[in-house]
Amino acid sequence: MKRREFVGGLAVAAGLGACGSEHGKDCTAGEAAGEAEFRWNMVTSWPPGLPGLGTGAAKFAADIERASGGRLTIKVFAGGELVPALEVFDAVSRGVAQMGHDPSYYHRGKVPAAQYFTAIPFGQNANEINAWVYYGGGLELWQELYGEFNLVPFPVGQTGVQMAGWFNKEIRSVADLIGLKMRIPGLGGEVMQRAGVMQVTLPASEIFTSLQSGAVDAAEWVGPYNDVSLGLHRVAKYYYYPGWHEPGPMIECVINKDAWNSLPVDLQELLKVCCRAANLDTQAEYTYGNALALEQLTKDPNVKVLPLPDDVLALLKKISREVIEELSAKDPWSARIQKSFDEFQTRSIANQLVSEQAYLNARTISTG
Ligand code: CA
Repeated sequence: MKRREFVGGLAVAAGLGACGSEHGKDCTAGEAAGEAEFRWNMVTSWPPGLPGLGTGAAKFAADIERASGGRLTIKVFAGGELVPALEVFDAVSRGVAQMGHDPSYYHRGKVPAAQYFTAIPFGQNANEINAWVYYGGGLELWQELYGEFNLVPFPVGQTGVQMAGWFNKEIRSVADLIGLKMRIPGLGGEVMQRAGVMQVTLPASEIFTSLQSGAVDAAEWVGPYNDVSLGLHRVAKYYYYPGWHEPGPMIECVINKDAWNSLPVDLQELLKVCCRAANLDTQAEYTYGNALALEQLTKDPNVKVLPLPDDVLALLKKISREVIEELSAKDPWSARIQKSFDEFQTRSIANQLVSEQAYLNARTISTG
């Protein structure tokens, strides 16, 4: 078996004028690559058909197939179909699949610094993290970090600021957090743990049943659009905001580096452009879907949509800083990325205050 057929997926010469020794016609490497077809697998963490993330992965794959005229086709697998939902990173790193689609913070045990490319508690919002990744050096750091694991990453989706989560009791002060068992992954989970919560990480497919059975007392997933699709409003009453722990979480597309290198340059460029398009499209879909789903939830007599009390947010913010500083102290990669991330966030705050924040405040001023 040729190397490319193994790591790069099934690559076959196709169409009139196919060249290479097996066709009895000499050709350049570029010509051969230009005519080759690549059939890849993409593993994801998402339950089948999950709006936004799951359907976004399918749309992303379909866009690539159409834009490449069928030269690159990608079969999408829901979480657990080809590999377990939380093992996308390892599977693509080892070449079990050529591509993956999931949030980087699921892999914090192996790559602590990966968390910067999903969300940092009290960190950058959606606009800021896109700015940092595309223009502030974030993507270069991400690709260097993942290069050590034989992966090429790109941002491929964005939910916008999430919700703090569903709780089966009201949270009136920090004392109400003590002893709660909550599904909350990533650094946010670590912060909650230090605030007295028992933190667990579960894939999306297990959240509903865990809340329903009482195996957990609280769970964060995404926001109204996705949470309603999982039915979480039917198994918990109190829905808190804001998503202090995930202010602008990105989804990553990871590509096995050998598979990436097997592609001709034009397909590599096409993939990059499709990743950017998917990043924009997913954010737009969430902005739209969240608005409609929140409207539904606010009309539901069994749901209370509430802000987290200020003392809870203040405590979580204080612990968040401690957790981030400790992470940087023990992990050189996290320290390096933190420096770049923080540098941009610090510079961005003044601009956000006089633009997005000021405008949104102005929009709610009463004219009466
Ligand atoms: Ca989340």
